[in-house]
Amino acid sequence: MTVWLLGDQLHPESHVLDDAERVLLIEATAFADRKPYHPQKLGLVFAAMRHARDALREAGYDVTYRRARTFGDALDAHFEARPGDDLRLMRPPSHGAAERLRSLVESRGGSLTLVDDDRFRCSPEAFDAWHDGDGFRHEDFYRWMRRREGVLMDGDDPVGGQWNYDESNRETPPDDWSPPPVPRFEPDELTRETLDWVAERFDTWGESTGFAWPVTRAEALDALDHFVEHRLSPFGPYQDAMVGGESALAHSLLSSSLNLGLLGPREVIDAAVDAWERDAAPIESVEGFVRQVLGWREFMRHVYRRTMPDLVESDLLSRSRDLPPLYEGEGTEMRCLDEAVSHVYDRGYAHHIERLMVLSNFASLYGADPRELNEWFHFGFVDAYHWVTTPNVLGMGTFATDVFTSKPYVSSGNYVDRMSDHCAACAYDVDATTGDDACPFNALYWDFLDDHEETLRGTGRMGLMYSHLDRKDDAELSAIRERAATIRNRAREGRL
Ligand code: FAD
Repeated sequence: MTVWLLGDQLHPESHVLDDAERVLLIEATAFADRKPYHPQKLGLVFAAMRHARDALREAGYDVTYRRARTFGDALDAHFEARPGDDLRLMRPPSHGAAERLRSLVESRGGSLTLVDDDRFRCSPEAFDAWHDGDGFRHEDFYRWMRRREGVLMDGDDPVGGQWNYDESNRETPPDDWSPPPVPRFEPDELTRETLDWVAERFDTWGESTGFAWPVTRAEALDALDHFVEHRLSPFGPYQDAMVGGESALAHSLLSSSLNLGLLGPREVIDAAVDAWERDAAPIESVEGFVRQVLGWREFMRHVYRRTMPDLVESDLLSRSRDLPPLYEGEGTEMRCLDEAVSHVYDRGYAHHIERLMVLSNFASLYGADPRELNEWFHFGFVDAYHWVTTPNVLGMGTFATDVFTSKPYVSSGNYVDRMSDHCAACAYDVDATTGDDACPFNALYWDFLDDHEETLRGTGRMGLMYSHLDRKDDAELSAIRERAATIRNRAREGRL
């Protein structure tokens, strides 16, 4: 029997390694040729795999590390050396992956034993036994998970008497706020060698220099400690804020480590709860963070699992425009959008509100094909994997499906103005809807509501938005439509 570890299953204490005789890691290049992945994403995955190989060997495992074009090529070599071998694998969360891998193994005369994926706290069986309705409601799932895991609970009730502290999590920092420090993990020789090889071997999109992501378990643990010590407290109040020149604010930057398996979700949650118990972080920050990891991260995985393959092809609003060239990093005068895209280009990262209320909001209002946006997120972000990117982009980001959101997360420039300092320094006027210097978000927003009225007016929570639209007379609406058309043309031509 050989344990087969995929490149995002790197936790050295994973249960899949229990009593392992041998370990197999396959570094395949064909998948990376399919999209223009961010060089830091490819560098991160390959460097983390190579470091995991070395760490497992040091821990005494017999590790075979195969470099090949495809999994099939590497498995040919494996079964030539070990005919009829049984491979033990953690069930991968991406749709159809387990079946594809099983068929690769069985067609070479081997067998595949699948075990639970311990990068998540809630197994498919547990979720399916709990979930008996039609739609998916995050809040119900989150409360169930808090009780099930006994996290921030006082008997059957939430500690402090509140399940969430949303209203305290929407502040913007004062002008004299200094963002907490962000850790940098300088590449060692092996990582540098890997990054150089990626830069030479693959067609990529994004900045290859300045790599500072954790690539080992030890670095990921340092990143967790650093977050808990320096950024967890301000994380709560400022989690929805945006500040010019700041890509991280107080966000944890832990998604790449969690999704690679360098960190487990429970240890991350326990570290945050421990800070609250030590009075080192307030409840609204700790609960806010727990909600993201124990709630949203797990929830998205199951929504994805239960709604694929339809999910990836869905678009409730039938949008089909190509993503405008500013998403390639060509620049725009819109400060919020320019910053968010440059954060992705520079590091393969943007925080949640930039992803949702800037990058997805603009693409949605513009009418870009959500599937193309999903691809863009997929190749551009260091933490992107099909199971997590797809429900976030198609459900939360673009309302291509209503399986777990009752209304689109769209807004005019007003939201960006309220939650950031971008608008004061922007070339566009956030208070204007029409006219040459009017903030593009404004006309696009009203035009979007007008355009999708048939689908959206009746949906639960859109009444207020439509009551504002109803107050606009024909002349105003026609000026809005004209301005929206101009913005789309200019965006398409790279002149926004
Ligand atoms: P923090 O803000 O510090 O949050 C803590 C942790 O909570 C994250 O590390 C992550 O593990 C988890 N988390 C929070 N929100 C979500 C969520 N909605 N779904 C899943 N996990 C969540 N997350 C990814 O891991 N990969 C993606 O490819 C991805 N694509 C996204 C695309 C869009 C359009 C949107 C709106 C969100 C996306 N997210 C994705 C979710 C979330 O934005 C990122 O997990 C988060 O920004 C990562 O940064 P962080 O580690 O600093 O997170």
